[in-house]
Amino acid sequence: MNILVTGGAGFIGSNFVHYMVEKYSDDQIINLDALTYAGNLENLKDCETKSNYSFIKGDIINRQLVDSVFQKGVDIVVNFAAESHVDRSITEPGVFIKTNVMGTQVLLDAAKTYGVKKYVQISTDEVYGTLGATGLFTEQTPLAPNSPYSASKASADLLVRAYHETYGLPINITRCSNNYGPYHFPEKLIPLMIIHALSDKPLPVYGDGLNIRDWLHVQDHCAAIDLVMHQGRVGEVYNVGGNHERTNLEIVKTILRELGKPESLIQFVKDRPGHDRRYGIDATKLRTELGWQPKYTFDTGIKETIQWYLQNKDWWQRILSGDYQVYYQKQYGNS
Ligand code: NAD
Repeated sequence: MNILVTGGAGFIGSNFVHYMVEKYSDDQIINLDALTYAGNLENLKDCETKSNYSFIKGDIINRQLVDSVFQKGVDIVVNFAAESHVDRSITEPGVFIKTNVMGTQVLLDAAKTYGVKKYVQISTDEVYGTLGATGLFTEQTPLAPNSPYSASKASADLLVRAYHETYGLPINITRCSNNYGPYHFPEKLIPLMIIHALSDKPLPVYGDGLNIRDWLHVQDHCAAIDLVMHQGRVGEVYNVGGNHERTNLEIVKTILRELGKPESLIQFVKDRPGHDRRYGIDATKLRTELGWQPKYTFDTGIKETIQWYLQNKDWWQRILSGDYQVYYQKQYGNS
């Protein structure tokens, strides 16, 4: 089968490409990625020599290019390509609408025109908005996105749903909680905190630090997508999450403890506008229908991830330059 992975040079996409290239040697994995600031082909060095992997540099909004990829034959699409950083969506929402909504529509049109066995949209629990102290998001929870990022992802989900209802496109949508693991871009919470701690820089924590996220190791997310892609019931949404809820402050303290750094490095900063208080995922449907089980506990996963950042300093130090450096300086200054 030809499996088109869009956004395969980003954090989750590159982990997924590795996973697929290793597991399915008879399938062709085609990675279509625009290589924005978040795309990094270095993540895929090991795949370059594999005969079942190929890379196309291009934007999912480019209809002509997308058509040309589908004309060569695509059996399954897994769409990771997105602008993904909430903070950036607050300062620059336009590009989120362009890639996340309009780009998705271009892919859906091509999937409809040329025909596919399955179109899988990689969405997020953020489309559900925020939770109070109790309760979990189920697939029935109404969409109530609060940031331009989550609004763009929710819009894309609605388009994907509509292409199934209107044109019979065989789709699935996955809505996963926060991921962590190797190749996570340094602007996101866990890598940012590890890198600041290693350099004895202040660790900026939004508000009171008590916002809660439900963390899942990226490998467990990849295994869930694999199951949904092959066995998910057509037209269905599947939540993905491992019941590892932690406050941001707990995450930061865990990282400091693991690295032997003092908690005095924690610096509370002005809260993010529209900051969702709590996310928690009910993944019962995925567990019972498809037999998914996460392999990682948070404690083993976070330790392994910290080790990865220690062993791959060259990787993140190279990223801390160029385009990202401009954004990073603006957010965190020289401290
Ligand atoms: P990322 O920002 O690390 O990677 C995004 C990738 O998409 C990059 O390689 C980038 O170059 C590429 N891209 C961006 N615009 C593109 C365009 N117009 N055309 C082609 N490629 C383009 O993101 P991530 O954290 O790996 O997230 C991947 C997907 O998973 C996103 O759709 C995101 O919404 C979703 N998701 C992420 C998380 C998380 O915790 N990171 C959780 C749930 C869902």
